[in-house]
Amino acid sequence: MSFASLGLSPALHDAIAAIGYTTPTPIQAAAIPAALQGRDVLGAAQTGSGKTAAFVLPMLQALLARQGTRRGLHGLVLVPTRELAAQVGEAIRALVQHLPSTIKVSIVFGGVSINPQMMALRGGTDIIVATPGRLLDLARHNAVQLANVATLVLDEADKLLDMGFAEEIAEVLALLPARRQNLFFSATFPPAVQELAEKLLHDPLRAEV
Ligand code: AMP
Repeated sequence: MSFASLGLSPALHDAIAAIGYTTPTPIQAAAIPAALQGRDVLGAAQTGSGKTAAFVLPMLQALLARQGTRRGLHGLVLVPTRELAAQVGEAIRALVQHLPSTIKVSIVFGGVSINPQMMALRGGTDIIVATPGRLLDLARHNAVQLANVATLVLDEADKLLDMGFAEEIAEVLALLPARRQNLFFSATFPPAVQELAEKLLHDPLRAEV
């Protein structure tokens, strides 16, 4: 099994090689082909499984394909903590720096002043990795425009709900276009997580590792 056989473009293949990955992990092998086709994905995966690249690579390929045609925020990744926001955002930046196009990746989280984040979002961005409350604050300030989001990722959905973000997630969903791709990852599936997955996902590819 190679990354090329998953349907990733040469540009992404080169970026993957540059960061040192040679073989897809099981969650990547299962999720990437479906996500590249535009399908929703329900991923049961722990930290360490390679789940980040499983949702990031298809998102980047779609973003590269639309360069020059559409504008505005393309990918929204919701995460439960500032640590995960930084980790996921930096993982995306590590790949993006090896791509031929300029792709802007923004990382936002609560507990710090909103103004620098508003400034950093001026001029638009391609991908935002965010904790839900701060994303809503930024949307209320018109610092971020969610109407063109093509792909929504919920990363560590169980932890998002454990941390009490259900209401914020519902509010974010109301601001997103109805037609979009949803990629949903969680380590555990208690009833509340299953309910959210059912509400969000349309005929998802189920990837369990
Ligand atoms: P994640 O589960 O997404 O947090 O990834 C866990 C770790 O595995 C990170 O340090 C990644 O850089 C690394 N990783 C992800 N996919 C691969 C791969 N296909 N080959 C080697 N390392 C990987």
